[in-house]
Amino acid sequence: MTSSFKLSDLEEVTTNAEKIQNDLLKEILTLNAKTEYLRQFLHGSSDKTFFKKHVPVVSYEDMKPYIERVADGEPSEIISGGPITKFLRSSGTSGEGKQKIFPVNDDFAKKMGYILALRSLVMSKHSKDTSAEEGKSMEFHYIKPEYTTLSGLPISTVSTCFLVSDYFKNRPSKGKSEVTSPDQVTLCPDSNQSMYCHLLCGLCQRDQVVKVRASFAYTLVRAINFLEKYWKELCSNIRSGHVSDWITDLNCRNSVSVILGGPNPELADLIEKICSHKSWEGIITRLWPKSRSLEAIFTGQMAQYIPILEFYSNKLPQVSTVYGCSESTFGFNVDPLSKPQDVSYTFLPNISYFEFLPIDHERDIASIVDLVNVKQGCYYEPVVTNSFGLTRYLIGDILQVVGFYNSTPQFRFVRRKNIVLSVETEMTTEEDILKALARASLVLESSSDVMLMGFTCYADVSTFPGHYVFYWELKARAIKDVEPDKKVLVECCSVLEESFDALYRRLRSKGGVIGALEIRVVQKGTFDSLMEYFTSEGGSTAQYKTPICINSSEALAVLESKVLSRFYSERSPPLDS
Ligand code: AMP
Repeated sequence: MTSSFKLSDLEEVTTNAEKIQNDLLKEILTLNAKTEYLRQFLHGSSDKTFFKKHVPVVSYEDMKPYIERVADGEPSEIISGGPITKFLRSSGTSGEGKQKIFPVNDDFAKKMGYILALRSLVMSKHSKDTSAEEGKSMEFHYIKPEYTTLSGLPISTVSTCFLVSDYFKNRPSKGKSEVTSPDQVTLCPDSNQSMYCHLLCGLCQRDQVVKVRASFAYTLVRAINFLEKYWKELCSNIRSGHVSDWITDLNCRNSVSVILGGPNPELADLIEKICSHKSWEGIITRLWPKSRSLEAIFTGQMAQYIPILEFYSNKLPQVSTVYGCSESTFGFNVDPLSKPQDVSYTFLPNISYFEFLPIDHERDIASIVDLVNVKQGCYYEPVVTNSFGLTRYLIGDILQVVGFYNSTPQFRFVRRKNIVLSVETEMTTEEDILKALARASLVLESSSDVMLMGFTCYADVSTFPGHYVFYWELKARAIKDVEPDKKVLVECCSVLEESFDALYRRLRSKGGVIGALEIRVVQKGTFDSLMEYFTSEGGSTAQYKTPICINSSEALAVLESKVLSRFYSERSPPLDS
């Protein structure tokens, strides 16, 4: 991988996927075959057939003792032939809720930079093809202060690790002013100061903004919530040319003062007029009139934010970006204008060695297939072998093959593997929940003046019969508070139930093994409080994903303290649908 990339690189790596993957596996095994971990299976061999036959697939619990020994100060060679210089911390909000740490070194930021650079080439080509106007990107990126292991190695989130890396500091696009915020705003350790300053910089340059970007869609929703709370103060800063005193991070403050320039009462008046409008429908396009797209991850858990962001942006195209996790980056969306439900991610074969376990073949290594051998339409869980010490590691996501780009497969993100609601023998998956939610929110929006701002759910089995509980945060379309309409919310409970599978409907209808589904409406701001709870436990704001299902009793307590009203389904779902 070189530091100056060309669009033809994408063609080359996706065409030669098989050879690149085989060479990469050889390289990784040559580096790692003598580690304490791999020696027990490979006895020093770096042969692919031997690897396929003898190395088990593992999950975090299997690797944890090895990873923790390195984190506590034992040598990297326990798991990796190369140096381990950092650890990445998973958000812990996309699955079982437990944070995990993964070993990496400086190559991680290079690989991430490579994927982002290729993606940005695809995006620029696309803008040229569609003659889109050139301008700046307003980006909401943050860092989370790093902490260290017992042996003094830094632990950070994926985004922080990338943003504080030498690669990012010296990136080829640096200094080209393509982004409204200076690096000092992104690198500010306080995420509230950072968010405020991102918005201030974006508002000052409102006529130049052509796209609005964040890692995850939730961050864009959070930015609008933040704007709703702070727009008067932001306007007052623009009017006076003075940044609020609570922005105390000096690097951030000084760099934003330069962008603010001086007093600008005309701009302040204009923004005030737009924000005072009784409805915030289309607020993004009204404040940033040249914006043409929203870029973030809109798939998986993030799909729930599609309607609300359509509302705020007058249905600007929502461009899903990359697919990756703390264990490895996988690939990106090469077709920026595909609709959120059609988005697929093209894996890049030179990032990690990727294998695929067909679903329902729990840990059966004989059934694992290589990247280029997956079958169109089939469902798999990715298994990653990277150069930093993870070997045949199960990612816990379920993907479906929806096409090929040259010889490289493209995957649709289906769901997290372990996210299920279950009261009895039924298994309601993340995908089932999101589909049901999309139907119920259509009913909500067409029959009332409110929209769904955030949701999560859990299976309450503390009473008999157990039942599903959904926490919903609602927001009025106009800036005013409205009481939830009982009839509509009860109907939403029924629509959710009717969308679940036949087993759920049977258990709910016959014999009452599952009780009536309940929606608990929570106060405004509850889902921001939930995020604050998770980030106080060590998660990062930028990487945060509102959990689809909640398991932790502490997180449930946060939600319970904000419940305003409760609604129950009043009819049993039909058995056939
Ligand atoms: P983390 O644990 O914080 O590293 O988050 C990684 C997880 O986020 C992945 O395993 C996925 O479940 C989810 N994720 C990341 N990228 C995407 C994407 N593009 N679409 C859907 N889910 C994603």
